[in-house]
Amino acid sequence: MRHDHFPEFIKPYLIPEPEGDLVYRCLGCGDTFGIGALHYVCPRCQAVLLIEDAGFERHKRRAAELWHQIFDYRKMLSLPALKGIYRFHEFIGPVIPLKSIVYLGEGHTPMIEGNPGLQASVGLRFFFKNDGQNPSASFKDRGMASAFSYIKYMLDTGQVSDVLAVCASTGDTSAAAALYAAYLQANIKSAVLLPHKKVTPQQLSQPLGSGARVFEIPGVFDDCMKVVEKLSDEYRVALLNSKNAWRILGQESYAFEIAQDLEYDLQDLVVVVPIGNAGNITAVMRGFIKFFDAGIIQTLPKIVGVQSVHANPVYRYYSEPDPAKRHFSPVTVKASVAQAAMIGNPVSMPRVIQLVEHYNQRADAQRICFIEVNEQEIMDWELRANRNGHIACTHGGECLAGLARAREQGLIRHDETAIVDSTAHALKFGGFQEMYFEDRFPEEFRVQPRAELINRPVLVKPEGLKRFPAPGKPLEGEALEEFIEQVSHEIATLLELVKR
Ligand SMILES: *Cc1c(COP(=O)(O)O)cnc(C)c1O
Ligand SMILES: [Zn+2]
Repeated sequence: MRHDHFPEFIKPYLIPEPEGDLVYRCLGCGDTFGIGALHYVCPRCQAVLLIEDAGFERHKRRAAELWHQIFDYRKMLSLPALKGIYRFHEFIGPVIPLKSIVYLGEGHTPMIEGNPGLQASVGLRFFFKNDGQNPSASFKDRGMASAFSYIKYMLDTGQVSDVLAVCASTGDTSAAAALYAAYLQANIKSAVLLPHKKVTPQQLSQPLGSGARVFEIPGVFDDCMKVVEKLSDEYRVALLNSKNAWRILGQESYAFEIAQDLEYDLQDLVVVVPIGNAGNITAVMRGFIKFFDAGIIQTLPKIVGVQSVHANPVYRYYSEPDPAKRHFSPVTVKASVAQAAMIGNPVSMPRVIQLVEHYNQRADAQRICFIEVNEQEIMDWELRANRNGHIACTHGGECLAGLARAREQGLIRHDETAIVDSTAHALKFGGFQEMYFEDRFPEEFRVQPRAELINRPVLVKPEGLKRFPAPGKPLEGEALEEFIEQVSHEIATLLELVKR
């Protein structure tokens, strides 16, 4: 909509000016640091950081209705900078001027209601929020849009000159980082570290296609992470993992969008997310807390964090009911189809521990729980979802499996509504579907295909035919007619078609 067509009362709020007083806060010693320098850990005690707005109180002075109208009217603007995650500019990166914002189509991903059959088998109403419909086909784009907008702001204001963006990745972080770096060009280059043979061919093709330097490292993600941590400690590089607090800020938009799409009424809502490095669940908790603290939502939804039994350090930590006895220890991961979450030592664990406590305190109830599911359940639920018209990735399957388990265990009632995070696009993980359909999962996964979920292509090549068309060698005349006749006959027989 054109600016002059908006109602007068909303015009002053539509296009945000840079504002706010952002600081890094250390989760270890509690100290704060200015955002003028890029920090990944506390310069004093090395603990992880989160970015806070020291001027957050100002948000409480606006009435909830005004906030709702600001975000809802903003949706109608044609300004690219405000189309994605920065629709919530005041809560994501308020210091960043619109001209530094990078928008590649991230955010505003759709919520698709589970089809009736699928809802019935899970046992409650739910929606997939399809974060695979982001530009690099995973939710990581939300955090990258934030981190790269900040880097662009630093470049635009001359606070940095050349940037080498590095990250370790289970596949999707590198795809996203390489994409944004490629778009910004000139002063930004990217290098990504991947565990050798532990990302899918589609994920590997993404940073290669974007022109990043791609390094494959023996081992698993946790090993790659140690290497980039060393690199970012000792060299002048910009670390783009979710250890970087700017990534968390952008990923909070997932929570804001849910609030907006449900018209800010989050009663009886459950949000289900997979956990790998735990940046995503950190961001989702923080996003809801921010909107709750500002009065924009009146309820903090339940959050269910899901892990595979093959990579379950967070689940294990919380399986001890007595908080005083909980003790975090990293796990050695095993092969998982939820490969992007195959992480044994989540970098954001200290953030999770603090935020879970804070979230439950603010909600005045236990609102967060953790579920583990096995590889079989993950595959079965992913395939079931997609047979019902969805586009879930294995992590979407993991979340759906977690939701079904949480229902069974009575952690969720049938009259609640769930939002299930399908964190990437199904196509990135098509290889696991293939392994299932062809029954060739290596033993370590412990996945046995169910006959009713298997689907295979059928090659139609009638035995009686002597000649077949080939590229550049078409059939003609009688040979072509014979070919069409026999092939259509065979398909009609297989489909048991009735003559008209
Ligand atoms: C990164 C990723 C996860 C895990 O998210 P964390 O923030 O690391 O917990 C889950 N699913 C997909 C598809 C991912 O790319
Ligand atoms: Zn510190």
